[in-house]
Amino acid sequence: MNDYLKKVFKTIEKFKLIEAEDKIFVALSGGKDSAAALLSLKKFKEVKCMNFELNAFHINLGSVASDEVQKIVEKQAKLANAQLFTYNLREKGIFLEKIAKRSGRPVCSVCGVIKRYLINKIPRELGGTKVATGHHADDFTVFFFKNLLGSNFSWIGKFKPKVESKNEKLLTKIRPLFFVGAKENEEFCKSLNIPFVEESVCPYFTNKRKIYEKTKKWYDIIYKLDKEIPNFRERIINAIEKVSDYFYEEANLTNCKFCGEPTNKEVCSFCKLTKESSL
Ligand code: AMP
Ligand code: ZN
Repeated sequence: MNDYLKKVFKTIEKFKLIEAEDKIFVALSGGKDSAAALLSLKKFKEVKCMNFELNAFHINLGSVASDEVQKIVEKQAKLANAQLFTYNLREKGIFLEKIAKRSGRPVCSVCGVIKRYLINKIPRELGGTKVATGHHADDFTVFFFKNLLGSNFSWIGKFKPKVESKNEKLLTKIRPLFFVGAKENEEFCKSLNIPFVEESVCPYFTNKRKIYEKTKKWYDIIYKLDKEIPNFRERIINAIEKVSDYFYEEANLTNCKFCGEPTNKEVCSFCKLTKESSL
């Protein structure tokens, strides 16, 4: 087994990401990271002969390009022998651009709110016990520095391979790629001939370009530091996993008065965008 899978398997075992009767749903975006998460879990199931259920789901963002992305996602799920569930925003009457215009918020921020909400709700309603995402070591390292600089300390408390749910409506989140980075995910996908889409395929990439370029700068800095300081990337993610305990804050959740989903406000962010402004 290669070093990549060894690291991912160690993460799964050490942090008890999966139990025998779990029904796992992997949130597939079409990109390399979530595809790597799905295929790593498939390998783990085979090698360890574990009896958990591995499924996938994808939120189709509702543009022409999104249908192309869905085709790639279908191929990824097939390669992993995972049943794929799709949720098409357009078919559900959710139009990202319309909501962005009406609310005055950037389309990427609207998309983020809607995805976060559905990434919990869809798998839970399908009977899932845990949801896996493709978030990886470089993501958390960049988020760590950004949140530290922005004094958003409570967010750092969730930078863990497993965020255990304390609410019956919230699924436990698992991040099997917590200790591997973007570069390694890409190499893993390529070595297995797993098709994936580039970030630039996002239908709203032109709106996103500025955010993307800023994030890319952060990534470049991390990789540069890794060249200057021995094992920087590995050491910093190990430190983040440990230090996150000190930032952990218990969320005070109630149920949204419109949809009943967990939220820390009277109306959840999803309903604020999709319902309140149209009432
Ligand atoms: P992002 O915030 O776009 O970097 O995505 C973070 C994680 O969310 C990905 O690694 C996926 O696991 C999941 N994800 C992103 N987009 C989608 C989507 N359209 N459908 C399902 N899951 C997604
Ligand atoms: Zn709501």
